[in-house]
Amino acid sequence: MAVLELTGILDRALQGEPLSPEEGLRLAQGPPEELPALLEAAAELRDRGHARRVRFSRSLFLPLTNLCRNRCAYCGFRREPGQPGQHTMTFEEVRRDCRRAFRAGCTEALFCLGDRPESRWPSHLETLRRLGVDSTAEQVAAACRIALEEGLLPHTNAGALTREELARLKPLNASMGLMLESASPLPAHDGCPDKAPQVRLRVLREAGELRIPFTSGLLLGIGETPRQRVEALAILRDLHREFGHIQEVILQNFRPDKSLPHPPGVGPGLEEMARTMAVARLMLGAAFNLQAPPNLNPQGLGLLLRAGLNDFGGVSSLTPDHINPEAPWPQVGDLARVCAEEGLHLVERLPVHPKFLDRPGFLVPEIRRRAEEISFRTGGTR
Ligand code: SF4
Repeated sequence: MAVLELTGILDRALQGEPLSPEEGLRLAQGPPEELPALLEAAAELRDRGHARRVRFSRSLFLPLTNLCRNRCAYCGFRREPGQPGQHTMTFEEVRRDCRRAFRAGCTEALFCLGDRPESRWPSHLETLRRLGVDSTAEQVAAACRIALEEGLLPHTNAGALTREELARLKPLNASMGLMLESASPLPAHDGCPDKAPQVRLRVLREAGELRIPFTSGLLLGIGETPRQRVEALAILRDLHREFGHIQEVILQNFRPDKSLPHPPGVGPGLEEMARTMAVARLMLGAAFNLQAPPNLNPQGLGLLLRAGLNDFGGVSSLTPDHINPEAPWPQVGDLARVCAEEGLHLVERLPVHPKFLDRPGFLVPEIRRRAEEISFRTGGTR
């Protein structure tokens, strides 16, 4: 009976029918012996949608500030004013790093920062004013302009921005992002105003209304249940159906870091990651871009490729992953080799996925022109 049920669900997914959260949950909670069939179906769907190509972008990671008004239980990035390691980048540092990255062949300036720190620490406003701006959103806009001047395409992750801030940053970005993480309230997000599910969903919806190519995804292993995972995947799929703006879904595995006093979980093991990737592929369908950070899964890249992954996201040869500094980036040559072992081709992309370059309303003409220029310069990255 269980085998029949599995076959029926996989057949529906392979025919392009949307699976319900109940069906996703059935796949997520199936016995270990079902895993090979799940992986096979997920890889087949990925191959139909992506012609055996796996993409990545050459990225520069710019942590504009590690102050943040939230207090996520799993965060090793956040610092408070005066703590060792607290830093807000100057615009000179942004320009210097962008120049270096341009010379090294990067195309993406990835801006990551804490949420709206000035609302928690008024003293941070003085820092911002010394930089010549009045808010974190203005700081991000100025940094994006510098990246564009230096020949890179910005991708901004600046937390739960307002609709007005999203609209202001759209003409300065090739794409933007906000991890949904979870669509359910979790203890790991106690004391985090910007992690309330309704706030994340508001941002994702407004990004769609504003036609911003948008990256989102789930953070796995922070205390969520399998049901909450599949419900969050269904929500991302439905938002994309409505607005067509989700350019990729990241499945990011939480990795406890020794410095965390009370980690909210242990993070998923490799098999759980692979099963979740396969369920995501089967729920989201052939065309979605599905990503897992390669530096957080160094031993599992082949298995994740077999589970339907088609994107490695931004990979930096110059800067560490400041959110997970203990996890070094792999070499591009190593990624290419793992892909080849699975019969797949690694292909470089811009920070915006190719399908958005010609889609009306998504990129302002200036960003599209720069994307075409960079594509030409780097030998057809699109
Ligand atoms: S919002 Fe991001 S930077 Fe802020 S505490 Fe949470 S994980 Fe850390």
